[in-house]
Amino acid sequence: MGKVLAIANQKGGVGKTTTSINLAASLAATRRKVLLIDLDPQGNATMGSGIDKSELDDSVYELLTGRCELDQARCRSDNGGYDLLPANGDLTAAEVELLDLPAREHRLRQALEPVRAHYDFILIDCPPSLNMLTVNGLVAADGVLIPMQCEYYALEGLSALVNTIQRIAAALNPSLKIEGLLRTMYDPRNSLTLDVSKQLAHHFGEQLYKTVIPRNVRLAEAPSFGMPALTYDKQSRGAVAYLALAGELVRRTKQAARAAAVADTND
Ligand code: ADP
Ligand code: MG
Repeated sequence: MGKVLAIANQKGGVGKTTTSINLAASLAATRRKVLLIDLDPQGNATMGSGIDKSELDDSVYELLTGRCELDQARCRSDNGGYDLLPANGDLTAAEVELLDLPAREHRLRQALEPVRAHYDFILIDCPPSLNMLTVNGLVAADGVLIPMQCEYYALEGLSALVNTIQRIAAALNPSLKIEGLLRTMYDPRNSLTLDVSKQLAHHFGEQLYKTVIPRNVRLAEAPSFGMPALTYDKQSRGAVAYLALAGELVRRTKQAARAAAVADTND
């Protein structure tokens, strides 16, 4: 069964979309079958995957509001080597429309049900808010990957996100866990970065990924060519860091599966 990860943080500009695109491409490069879902009306993950958001017939909007089937919205990112459920500005309307639809928090989860087993990883690029779209992402997910910059206010925002995750786990999706915290745009020369990093390690322990993503101009340039950094410049520090993250994620997933199997035999 594929692992479904929501990439979420209600703060904008922390590297959610950059992580979604580059982690998807890195997992695909290690021969995993990957689906990337763009759940942000800005459509940045769509454009960054080389798909023109202004030319979509069907998208996540039609899928969530019951106007199309998954196969009609799904496309292929040749630049990334993964499948994509694309989005554009139409998705803004879904935030409101969803409120009046049945099973409004579960619509993405239900839409994914038929393809969950087909993928090794399904990544969901969430919008920068805790709205109904993000709730759909968190209800569909097994885990949340939280990208964050190591700056002072990052910790403050984090408690609101952790509370939301706990509330959704209690009310709507008991299997939801924090998969990991990812330090993005990491600059070890900055003493605040090191301070915040220490606090994160203290509070989150093993949940903090060992891999850090450095600030790297290639990661910022690649989306304007519709490519992950791995396709745009595979030697770049950014591309290499996201490959390392994919490795860490795959190792952790295997370890968790082994631990669960042992627990099962002991039952
Ligand atoms: P979010 O999806 O959380 O709003 P983005 O992934 O769009 O954040 O990143 C915000 C901006 O920072 C974008 O312009 C992106 O290209 C840039 N960026 C993200 N990660 C890095 C990085 N590691 N190094 C350099 N620029 C980055
Ligand atoms: Mg984004």
